[in-house]
Amino acid sequence: MVTRLYSHPLFLEHLTPPGHPERPDRLRAIEKVLSDDRFDRLDRHQPEPAGREHLVLAHPESHVDKVMNAIPDEGIVRVDADTSVSPMSGEAALLGVGAAVAAVDDVFEKRADNVFVAARPPGHHAEKVTAMGFCLFNNAAIAARHAQKRHGADRVAIIDWDVHHGNGTQDIFWDDPSVLYCSTHQMPLYPGTGAKDETGAGNIVNAPLSAGSGSDTFRDAFRDRVMRSIVDFHPDLIIISAGFDAHHRDPLAEINLDEADFDWATAELMELANRLCNDRLVSLLEGGYDLRGLSSSVGAHVGRLMRG
Ligand SMILES: [Zn+2]
Repeated sequence: MVTRLYSHPLFLEHLTPPGHPERPDRLRAIEKVLSDDRFDRLDRHQPEPAGREHLVLAHPESHVDKVMNAIPDEGIVRVDADTSVSPMSGEAALLGVGAAVAAVDDVFEKRADNVFVAARPPGHHAEKVTAMGFCLFNNAAIAARHAQKRHGADRVAIIDWDVHHGNGTQDIFWDDPSVLYCSTHQMPLYPGTGAKDETGAGNIVNAPLSAGSGSDTFRDAFRDRVMRSIVDFHPDLIIISAGFDAHHRDPLAEINLDEADFDWATAELMELANRLCNDRLVSLLEGGYDLRGLSSSVGAHVGRLMRG
């Protein structure tokens, strides 16, 4: 397998208030684990910033302007109770979207079998017109729309195993049956959406898990609801909203997964990508707030992407 990695030093320059869980050290921890010899074969690249034409694939111009106009010349400004921007946040967000878009190009043009994007801020809570939950623009949604527009993909599946429900992605594709959105997440938990009966145009598959759930419950839900839906949908591309905050060490939730579960889920999605869509798999970092849990989980995930 050729696995490409997108990262950029500017992702460290998106600053959040002291004590905020979504902090630059998250990416430093990921960089550290991926600097190990076993990741020598990773095809490492820095992304170019996305253009406005990419942002408007999932957001109206007014949202793009609202976020970019909120960027301060100095200091940190809140745009939501728990979402903030600092002087370099706009550049970081554009690079993150640029990486997601480039990753889609890479797998359709066969420069890589699969791609992992280690970017921040994350994206899956960003709704069409609302920045929230640490997210400004919805990287996964923009990547899916880009695959459709640029590469003629008829159907794109977005699989979200972040421990929080991706309300933003669900919002953007609520009435769009050309994109399947499947999520496993703790419920009740922020942001409050993600009930089983939220099904959109039949293209939304929510698999809520109760606090205290572990590996067996997660794998059953993933197999029975998520994987089965992917097979029925027959996508041209699989995008993972890869949050690692369902790890048992994570401070923001109470789901008890570990590295082996992320390794397993990665392998299962790779098998489906191989069977259904010529291996095309793009994985975008979302949450994960315990540095040890995050880095070991990303190590397991990226190691699996490389090995097949
Ligand atoms: Zn999360």
